[in-house]
Amino acid sequence: MAKQDVKDLDWSNLGFTYRDLPYSYNEEFKDGKWQNGGLTTDSTLTFSEAAEDLHYGQEVFEGMKAYRTKDGGINLFRPEMNAERMANSAKRLVMEQYPKDKFVEAVKAVVKANQEFVPPYGSGGSLYIRPFMVGTEPVVGVSPSTEYTFHIYATPVGAYIKGLNPMPYTVSDYDRAAGAGTGQAKTAGNYASSLLPSILAKKAGFADCLYLDPREHKYIDEFGGANFYGVTKDGQFLTPKSDSILPSITKKSILQIAKDQGLNPQETRIAIDDLDNLAEAGAMGTAAVISPVGSLTYKGNKHVFYSETEAGPVTQKLYDTLFGIQEGDVEDKHGWVESVDL
Ligand SMILES: *Cc1c(COP(=O)(O)O)cnc(C)c1O
Repeated sequence: MAKQDVKDLDWSNLGFTYRDLPYSYNEEFKDGKWQNGGLTTDSTLTFSEAAEDLHYGQEVFEGMKAYRTKDGGINLFRPEMNAERMANSAKRLVMEQYPKDKFVEAVKAVVKANQEFVPPYGSGGSLYIRPFMVGTEPVVGVSPSTEYTFHIYATPVGAYIKGLNPMPYTVSDYDRAAGAGTGQAKTAGNYASSLLPSILAKKAGFADCLYLDPREHKYIDEFGGANFYGVTKDGQFLTPKSDSILPSITKKSILQIAKDQGLNPQETRIAIDDLDNLAEAGAMGTAAVISPVGSLTYKGNKHVFYSETEAGPVTQKLYDTLFGIQEGDVEDKHGWVESVDL
């Protein structure tokens, strides 16, 4: 595959697709230690046909974005939280830890090396960054790999969904993750198991599906790649508390913003039978930041939240605040933004 030429990019129509940029980052772990990696122009990985990851799924990943600011700088958003979460995911999958300070430095190096691919301020686009780690030791019996590859690629992406367009969702009969399974780890297997339910939802005319808690199927868990929130009729911000959802950094940040805005936020169980309590609902994650849920169909009943065509006022304000902080237009009171030295 040929490297992407920056001149061929249409910043306002990037979509959410992979483009092969000039630089990636690569480092291998073997003989009990990390082997001093660095930037590379090689965007392919080579490993044994018996590599652990290919058969037994020892893989963890992260998703983050670099944003162009008005003055031409580049911002990262809470990158140390991605480093921390990847370490936690790795622990759950019995993988080697990649040092957290090195993680942040490596992300910055990739952004700096590919800086001309960070979309312009105001285009709605950003540079999506994908750090990941795979177990590469050739194994036949199931046991943790003793060799790993840590790698980062970056690719420019457009606004995941342009503007705040409410979407129709359905509730899946499938589970994304097991009750005491790997739901809190950002690992490939959770995504593999969400492919079929997601395709079924799309075939039925929905944007995607929402998963219920796997133990009782009574409470809202999350979407395949984003956490859920609701705003009650009296203006309280609620988001599910569950041991089978992925701890979203967007969610943690929005919880703080909701507190700052006096929305009395709470992480709690949200019963799927209590949708009538909610005036607004949405999805939270790095890809879309916030995406309003227009309606949710459960057991054949369609529940409409604020509107099927317009984002509610609380959703709009939370989005404007968070995206404003990320792009450097709203005061960063909590010190979340880290600018990249160019
Ligand atoms: C990555 C992810 C999210 C969103 O996390 P952010 O840190 O906000 O990007 C939510 N749910 C799942 C299942 C995820 O994998």
